[in-house]
Amino acid sequence: MQTKAAAATLSLMDKATVSDGIDYKELDKSHVWHPFTQMQDWAAKDPLVIAYGEGNELIDVDGRRYLDGVASLWCNIHGHRHPRIDTAIRDQLDCIAHSTLLGLTHTSILETTQALLGIVPEGLSHIFYSDSGADAVEVALKMAFQYWLQQGQPKKKRFVALADAYHGDTLGAVSVGGIDVFHATFGPLLFDALRAPNNRRQTDGTYPDLIGPLETILDQHADEICAIIVEPVVQAAAGIITFPSGYLRRVRDLCDAHDVLLITDEVATGFGRTGKMFACEHDAVTPDIMVLGKGMTGGYLPMSATLATDKVFDAFLAPTAANRQLFHGHTFAGNALAAAACRANIEIFGAEQSLQMMQAHVELVAGYLAKIAELPAVTDVRQSGLMVGIELDPSRVEQQGPASYVCDRVRDFDVILRPLGDVVVWMPPLSITATQIDTLANATETAIRELSERTI
Ligand code: PLP
Repeated sequence: MQTKAAAATLSLMDKATVSDGIDYKELDKSHVWHPFTQMQDWAAKDPLVIAYGEGNELIDVDGRRYLDGVASLWCNIHGHRHPRIDTAIRDQLDCIAHSTLLGLTHTSILETTQALLGIVPEGLSHIFYSDSGADAVEVALKMAFQYWLQQGQPKKKRFVALADAYHGDTLGAVSVGGIDVFHATFGPLLFDALRAPNNRRQTDGTYPDLIGPLETILDQHADEICAIIVEPVVQAAAGIITFPSGYLRRVRDLCDAHDVLLITDEVATGFGRTGKMFACEHDAVTPDIMVLGKGMTGGYLPMSATLATDKVFDAFLAPTAANRQLFHGHTFAGNALAAAACRANIEIFGAEQSLQMMQAHVELVAGYLAKIAELPAVTDVRQSGLMVGIELDPSRVEQQGPASYVCDRVRDFDVILRPLGDVVVWMPPLSITATQIDTLANATETAIRELSERTI
């Protein structure tokens, strides 16, 4: 029997690349402005046009299937068109798609709130909903700033952020970001953040002292710092920079000792990516404020959240006329369809034992990586759960970066990857199978082997 997806794929193949008079590729090149993309280069090539997804695969308009090796930009958790999430959204459509959280509440967001409270670190008991990771980071920054203002400490308005941090592309998030190539252009629009080291390997092969410099910053500036913001355990966009066990615990202790709030940005690490539901669980840390996004809806719909402890929340309580409420809100905050997807996403973690099931695959990935690390073009490999960075020697390709070469080449083996600088990233859905890991690893190894044979 033909599956629905296969039938759909076939009917789509009949339409080839032009449907209802629409030439998808031309339309895209002429009118869609893609994120983080040099459109001149983009227009010179034919885009890959995705029409369907099934499980861990993407299917293009010609019916060709690709392994989604980056989980549709790090957000897909249980695969595409998962029956449980599909059904939850359809069922919610029969109730209502969207109703505001300003002046009203609704059953979908309340059921989701209950589900979230059951999985987040204990103590995070208030959830502010937004649409994207960057929105939720903005909320976290404003929350921390306003918290201290309302504690009668207006001087505490600076943030400590880590080198190479990435927290999104809105201006507050960029201000605490630290990736020059993304952020330098907007320098004149940003506020200043204090910078602590990250765990990037130095040119001499050693790693920086992470705690000493942070301690110095806090010793010297605690009275003007409102919060430290970190991506716990893994800095994703920096190139999958991993942090040693115990680091986050030290940061938590330093925050407590210096009366500074801790914000953990789990937009990339949340929902199982590092092998635990949330990365801060590795060090048994509860932050004052936690940011969630990407995987919240299993990668289906835009939804993010900023969670806070009672201590933070209580500082905003007062009669309305006192103007102590959090002045922030987005039209689609708490969208009912997204909330339904989020609930189903959480249920699948229980029903399919996703965290337990992925552990064997984490080991399998580690085995392949040990082999890949031996290739001459590879300078470093880093892994936390199913977040992987393979760093390549930049001298290997003349025109194009080496990681970009590898990501282009693996398409020949039906694998979709995206580079981050000189780093090839693997961040598949948690539902990736052993066979698919094999495909991913073999395609990557072949491409890197080719690179290893080239020198300029
Ligand atoms: N924070 C982290 C750690 C991220 O990795 C990202 C996106 O990659 C963001 C925030 C921004 O999320 P969004 O792209 O949904 O705005």
